[in-house]
Amino acid sequence: MPELPEVEVVRRGLAQWVAGRTVATVEVRHPRAVRRHLEGSEHFVAALTGRTFTAAHRRGKYLWLPLAESDGSPTGAALVGHLGMSGQLLVEKPSQPDETHLRARFTFTDGGRELRFVDQRTFGGLVVEEMAGGGGAGETTAGGIPPRLAHIAIDPLDASFDEAGFSAAVRRRHTEVKRALLDQTLIGGVGNIYADEALWRARLHGARPTDKLTRGQVSDLLEGVRDVLGEALAQGGTSFDSLYVDVNGQSGYFSRFLAVYGQADRPCPRCGTPIRRESFMNRSSYSCPTCQPRPRARRS
Ligand SMILES: [Zn+2]
Repeated sequence: MPELPEVEVVRRGLAQWVAGRTVATVEVRHPRAVRRHLEGSEHFVAALTGRTFTAAHRRGKYLWLPLAESDGSPTGAALVGHLGMSGQLLVEKPSQPDETHLRARFTFTDGGRELRFVDQRTFGGLVVEEMAGGGGAGETTAGGIPPRLAHIAIDPLDASFDEAGFSAAVRRRHTEVKRALLDQTLIGGVGNIYADEALWRARLHGARPTDKLTRGQVSDLLEGVRDVLGEALAQGGTSFDSLYVDVNGQSGYFSRFLAVYGQADRPCPRCGTPIRRESFMNRSSYSCPTCQPRPRARRS
């Protein structure tokens, strides 16, 4: 499943290859791809045809591309995308054969490469949404954000991320630290893989109660999150000058630096203890039994 670094790689690809181009045609190949566009497929197509994508932005795992009229004035709306479990946004030559799971195709007035939304499991989707306070042309600023994304917390990689505020909010919660990391209202963009990697770096078991963590432990955890996201982004960055806007690098670049995720029974890179796999929130969690001891049960 794409997490923050993968979605950021996609955003960079879109900024490079799609921003500034004007949509000629939109073809919706599967209604599920636009199911969150409540006015329907035809309305989705009409809202995009003839519009220009002005930029590519990201908040958490969502992407949005603001739209402009042909004269360059903003429409007040944006194309918002979420990749779900398996979604890909690909920039390809029109002559390239259609992918088996092609869900939507955008062609451009310059006749160049198409933007294709490919999604095997169809958990991802596209929607055109009015920006907050939007409506008529020119009413919204370039810094606006689609309302459905407004609740998502700022990324830990963003310079405006509030470290002290995050630390206080985490320690106020009565929950397990891994749940807090996965809570997109507390911290954006961290999924199962990077949560496990950050917890290993901070030597914390995911079931540790957040209200018992010290400021130093939360600070170590945040450093772990930032480092692992930054390193993953750097790895993803190696391939994004290719025209294939890759989000499926999991078997490639992920495996090279993962310390614990998916590494059950392999030695911990720090101490050599075999990595354990546990069930957590219906998924697998990976940790080192020595570096990350389970918390003692709370007294009731
Ligand atoms: Zn270890």
